[in-house]
Amino acid sequence: MKINKNYLNLQPSYLFSTIAKKVAEYKEKNPQANIIRLGIGDVTLPLAKTVVAALKNASEEMGHAETFKGYGEEQGYEFLRTAIQKHYEKKNVSLDTDEIFISDGAKSDLGNILDIFDKDNTVLIPDPVYPVYVDTNIMAGRTIKFMNANMQNSFLPMPEEGMTADIIYLCSPNNPTGAVYTKEQLKTWVDFALKQNAVILFDSAYEAFITDEKLPTSIYQIDGAKKCAIEFCSFSKTAGFTGTRCGYTVVPKTLVFEDTQLNKFWLRRQTTKFNGVPYIIQRGAEAVFSDEGWKEIKENIQYYLDNAKIITDAMKKANINYVGGENSPYIWLECPNGMKSWEFFEFLLEKANVVGTPGAGFGENGEGFFRLTAFGNRENIIEAVDRILKCLK
Ligand code: PLP
Repeated sequence: MKINKNYLNLQPSYLFSTIAKKVAEYKEKNPQANIIRLGIGDVTLPLAKTVVAALKNASEEMGHAETFKGYGEEQGYEFLRTAIQKHYEKKNVSLDTDEIFISDGAKSDLGNILDIFDKDNTVLIPDPVYPVYVDTNIMAGRTIKFMNANMQNSFLPMPEEGMTADIIYLCSPNNPTGAVYTKEQLKTWVDFALKQNAVILFDSAYEAFITDEKLPTSIYQIDGAKKCAIEFCSFSKTAGFTGTRCGYTVVPKTLVFEDTQLNKFWLRRQTTKFNGVPYIIQRGAEAVFSDEGWKEIKENIQYYLDNAKIITDAMKKANINYVGGENSPYIWLECPNGMKSWEFFEFLLEKANVVGTPGAGFGENGEGFFRLTAFGNRENIIEAVDRILKCLK
């Protein structure tokens, strides 16, 4: 028996465990410290009332023979795929329901999609980046090329002279930087992918944070994208489903490579290796798109965006360079006074009792940067910002 030695090439993932360890050590030495955490990318507001009502109702249905459900429909229940189709219609994107696949979240699908691609494809990934894209490709033994995201390109890398790729990852609004591509920029990527005969894996997990109507909330708002892009979406940040688990992936039937529809391959992959998301959860997800549900989740998102504004206002006051924080729950800032990411982490922990995420944990280009998240309660955000401003004076 031989192991998959590619796993030996993975960098140990110490980021969040190191943060937890450092905070615990500090807390032990300073038990009175009131530490505010603006580090972890997890939601804090509870599920919307309409969603909870739908979950309860569906649970009740499961307890009666007439309404009980066993294994669900292959790609997810039609009622949820139709609700998603209507959500796309509002973005002027028309999809067939068999182009939509319900999943237990974007992370699984982002990893699993690689099953349908050849191992020898070259992958293009931005740096810094959500680490899942990198690690899943290392596990599969693929060659990765990084593209630099930095202050010069506002952390939105674009195709460059001589660049080649088979699989391209784009994430907008971005984790960790909060940067969002414009329609024109995405059009350049779509044209590049079409020319290269490459596929774009577009991570749209934070699309619901986009409030600026000029910005694209789906790559399919760009001409030509249905011939080159797969889109990954999630209820996690949209509707607080990080613990409830539901997402969806769009694989248009017009995506054809080597005379083969990727949609057919993905259907075959999912029906072979995945048995679907619970009926109860899919009913909860459907409720997100009801008029009342959408109003409620938008209120939650606005709460996070208002938190983000409090943080970015403070960055402006302190003359700190940053991106994100608008149309995104993440604020990506340049560590002041040339500090390195972990230096600034220690500085904030000790001087302000505030915890953030060192940018170096997201790739080489993250060194010297720092991520703050707006997923906290208002009082804590105001207090944290106040302390940060005081200690930077
Ligand atoms: N994509 C990005 C960019 C993320 O930041 C996250 C979660 O933090 C995910 C995908 C995963 O989402 P899910 O909870 O749907 O698996």
